[in-house]
Amino acid sequence: MARVAVVGGGLVGLSTAVCISESVPQCSVTVLSEKFTPETTSDVAAGMLIPHPYPDMPIEQQKRWFQETFNYLLAICNSVEAADAGIQLLSGWQIFRTAPEQKVPFWADTVLGFRVMSEAELRRFPDYRFGQAFTTLKCDSRRYLRWLESRLKRDGGQLQARKIEDLWELCGQYDVIVNCSGLGARVLVGDLKLYPVRGQVLKVQAPWVMHFVRVDDGSTYIYPGMSGVTLGGTRQKNDWRLSVDASDTKDILSRCCALEPSLQRACEMSEWVGLRPCRSAIRMEKEVLQRGGYQLPVVHNYGHGGGGFSVHQGCAQEATRLVGELIAPTRGFFAKL
Ligand SMILES: Cc1cc2nc3c(=O)[nH]c(=O)nc-3n(C[C@H](O)[C@H](O)[C@H](O)COP(=O)(O)OP(=O)(O)OC[C@H]3O[C@@H](n4cnc5c(N)ncnc54)[C@H](O)[C@@H]3O)c2cc1C
Repeated sequence: MARVAVVGGGLVGLSTAVCISESVPQCSVTVLSEKFTPETTSDVAAGMLIPHPYPDMPIEQQKRWFQETFNYLLAICNSVEAADAGIQLLSGWQIFRTAPEQKVPFWADTVLGFRVMSEAELRRFPDYRFGQAFTTLKCDSRRYLRWLESRLKRDGGQLQARKIEDLWELCGQYDVIVNCSGLGARVLVGDLKLYPVRGQVLKVQAPWVMHFVRVDDGSTYIYPGMSGVTLGGTRQKNDWRLSVDASDTKDILSRCCALEPSLQRACEMSEWVGLRPCRSAIRMEKEVLQRGGYQLPVVHNYGHGGGGFSVHQGCAQEATRLVGELIAPTRGFFAKL
């Protein structure tokens, strides 16, 4: 029996743990995490499947991970599990003040029904000259995290609340470590390429809003979901504040109401803040750490920035393949993917 420890119990850690426990035969999976839902960055996310750019990653790879994630969640959405998992289809518009150079993005054939907006549709947004209409998927973050936790437990996986100061603490207890510590990897493995991008969002009740609206750079968005409408946002680089900023709230409300005036009648507002674990490329690789004659096989899967929901399953599958490769040479196991 191979013993796998996943460090990090946010979206990336849980989805990777589920994938490993379902694909790698004869292994036990334990998630070790300082925090679990509802206290992770993943809980704050709007959970929309719209790719976030990773400038130092090949587009083909970004496309594949998005496609794999989309297909996986679409199958859940089309199943009896959709409500429990918090997965829904959502249609709407991405709007631009001026038309972008590339009018058809690389993910256009992954989302459903992608097309350029008509003049009549654009009339709703008088300050915008160009737009794209499509249907994508949205995860209700908390429901999805709870669902992943229960799937893992059902498969025999374990969740342990524990902060790891050094990966070597785990040497001897586990055969492979999977590092899904998000922004925590900055300290845990000393990765200074990781930095926070602070995001504040509001959640309101406005059940009459049924389409999403996103301004092209992601600065302003309105995302209706299963438990309210998420209004965003902010993107404050290297800002570590986890406290709510009242001026951000005011600014978000004013930008969203300019796009959708009916939001002035929204009620039950709550304010949320999270730090996106940003990096120019997701760190997805295996390495074997060496110290004093001991070896510690590690798979890294972190640095998903503002797009973890959009690529998490593709990444979970890739990390699972790497775990299989680390286990296989000595134990004869392989990942069934
Ligand atoms: C406001 C906002 C809106 C967003 N909207 C979207 C969206 O619409 N679509 C989208 O695709 N993405 C979105 N994102 C991005 C998304 O939330 C992240 O990419 C994703 O949550 C990253 O998941 P993670 O598991 O890597 O990180 P986290 O959720 O931060 O999980 C990391 C885990 O590691 C644990 N940990 C860290 N260090 C240690 C340690 N030393 N020992 C033990 N445990 C440790 C933490 O406790 C935590 O449980 C948004 C983010 C924000 C902030």
